Amino acid sequence: MNKNQIIEEADKNLFHVYNRFPVVFDYGKGVYLYDSDDNKYLDFGSGIGVMAFGYGNEDYENALISQLKRLTHTSNLYYNQPMIEAAKKLCDASGMDKVFFTNSGAEAIEGAIKTAKKYAYNKKGPGKYEIVAMENSFHGRTVGALSITGTDHYREPFYPLMDGIDFAYFNDYGSILASINENTCAIILETVQGEGGLYPADKEFLEKVQAICQEDDILLILDEVQCGMGRTGTMFAFQQYGIKPDILTTAKALGAGVPVGAFAVTDKVAQTSLVPGDHGTTYGGNPLCTAAVSQVFDMFEKYDLLNHVNDIVPYFEQTLDRLVEKYDFVTERRGLGLMQGLVLTIPVKEVVTKALLEENLITLSAGKDVLRLLPPLVINEADIDTFKEKIERVFDTFK
Ligand SMILES: *Cc1c(COP(=O)(O)O)cnc(C)c1O
Repeated sequence: MNKNQIIEEADKNLFHVYNRFPVVFDYGKGVYLYDSDDNKYLDFGSGIGVMAFGYGNEDYENALISQLKRLTHTSNLYYNQPMIEAAKKLCDASGMDKVFFTNSGAEAIEGAIKTAKKYAYNKKGPGKYEIVAMENSFHGRTVGALSITGTDHYREPFYPLMDGIDFAYFNDYGSILASINENTCAIILETVQGEGGLYPADKEFLEKVQAICQEDDILLILDEVQCGMGRTGTMFAFQQYGIKPDILTTAKALGAGVPVGAFAVTDKVAQTSLVPGDHGTTYGGNPLCTAAVSQVFDMFEKYDLLNHVNDIVPYFEQTLDRLVEKYDFVTERRGLGLMQGLVLTIPVKEVVTKALLEENLITLSAGKDVLRLLPPLVINEADIDTFKEKIERVFDTFK
């Protein structure tokens, strides 16, 4: 089938819930993807922050192949070794104490919400179920996650959603104080807002939020589905802030290409919240996906990847800062580590489309006006130079 036939076939059988670009990707190697006509694309989107090691990594593939041949699924009625190893590595890397594996980021959020509600139910009694979430946040598309996602047009068609949500403003501690009351069980925020437009939390803001949470026995949930797993230069972004959540959510790069997420809690939370019968999933923690998680943590060590990220970030930032200097319509660079955005006054969707179709450069958008860049963590200076050449050719067409 040629490209047009493939797309026609897709329209016949797939529910039209995405507006996809007219590109059919076939395989990948390193930081490049190849389409059905063998055109080569530089990937600065990583499948929305998933492909931390790029494509076709042999260590990763071999680990998955050997697990695939051994055992892929048993359910949570029994133990399996990859899940246990992955949980230990995630606890060690995050400083959290107990892990529950899910199949996606949204499911990690659902689990975090249920954990917080159960904790408050046990500690303070019924009715203490309110959650403070952030305007401009993104936590996923399931009903619970949607209820705490601070973008009206995602939520509105699906009302009524989960009850008891109050939205405060990110990096505005006064609005947090105004939102909490004696029924608040949790405050949830992204350490770095991703979909909302690449806003890192201020250090002072996070410190104060943690302090008020501790004071009032409110659980702090940090959603690091996008900003976690090394993207910002530490395994989890909160580790740069000198604070720690009560509940942490992760997914996207956790499995670096297989569907897996997790929420992790402190012992304090684990001892006073979910018990057998409260929560579950058929697939979650299956040996295939958790073998990937385990291998991902091993590869961070083997490649000294956090140090690589920290080494390469200044070059990436400088390159982006030059674009801000050079083009009037690029007004700001914003982000943390290899999670960066350029704020544009030209239509960002057009930029993303032109970059993809004319320059074979994969980028993402965020918010209304941000060109979002989530390159694989393994990028080098030459990749960044290639990115610069391509994006400059795109920007030049808007001059
Ligand atoms: C992507 C994302 C989610 C949802 O993850 P899915 O795997 O798409 O369900 C939740 N939170 C944040 C911060 C995300 O970026």
